[in-house]
Parts: sequence; structure tokens; C-alpha cells
Amino acid sequence: MSDKLLNELRSSLEYCLEANRKATFKKWVFSDNVQCNAAKLAEAGFIFVGNSREPDTVSCFLCNKSLDCWAKDDDPWSEHLKHAPDCSFAKKNKPEKSLTLSEFIDIRNELIESIIDKACQNSLENVTRGVDEILELVAALK
Ligand SMILES: [Zn+2]
Repeated sequence: MSDKLLNELRSSLEYCLEANRKATFKKWVFSDNVQCNAAKLAEAGFIFVGNSREPDTVSCFLCNKSLDCWAKDDDPWSEHLKHAPDCSFAKKNKPEKSLTLSEFIDIRNELIESIIDKACQNSLENVTRGVDEILELVAALK
């Protein structure tokens, strides 16, 4: 396994834990006393990925769905499920503390599989591109 893939796995797996997701919300557009607060977003699977131009962009640690344009009274769980109905984490609709160990491990394994699948897909595309280039060179020689 490449160092790049191992590093990606390591950093992505950190976000399986709600506390690590919460730590990405150093600055959130709303205060803690509204429904759409940083803790609730982290609980619902989101990490903060915004910047000065997109100050409220978040992304799911598992399905990668990015959402922005939040309103103070939005419920992060229902928005997650509405925009990513196939996300296994959103479908559980449970904060981390309510997950069974088995559910937590299933989610973690799904994340590992999706990262490895993506890396394999990228490798396959690189090989295919290389083969195409070689075939073009061979055809040019004829
Ligand atoms: Zn998701």
C-alpha cells in the first residue's frame, strides 16, 4: 500500500470520531444555542471544509456530500438524509454515543472500503491511460 493511500486512510479514519469532526469547526457561522450549531453538525457526520468565500461549507466524513447555505433552524441530521439518502451514517440517524460497537465498526469498514475502491479506480485509470499511450505510439510506428 502506498504512503499516500495510508496517509489518506489515517486522516479520513480520524473523522469517524465525532470529537475529531467537532474540532474542525474552529469558527462556525451560528452560535451554539441554535439548532444548526457546530456540535450538532459534527454529531450528524459533518466536518467543516469551508473558507472565507464559503464560510458554511461542510462535508460528510463517510459519503463526502458537501452542503452549504445553512439556516439557523436547519436540522443537520434531516438535511444530511435529504441530500444524501444513501449515506449509511445518515440513515442510522444516531449520534455516535448511541451506536453499537458493531454499527461503528461497520461504518468504519465502509469508509476504508470506499477509500481503497477509489484508490484502485485511480490506479486502473492510470494503467488504462498508459496502455492507450503505448498503443498510440505503436500505431504511429507502423
Ligand atoms: Zn453522509
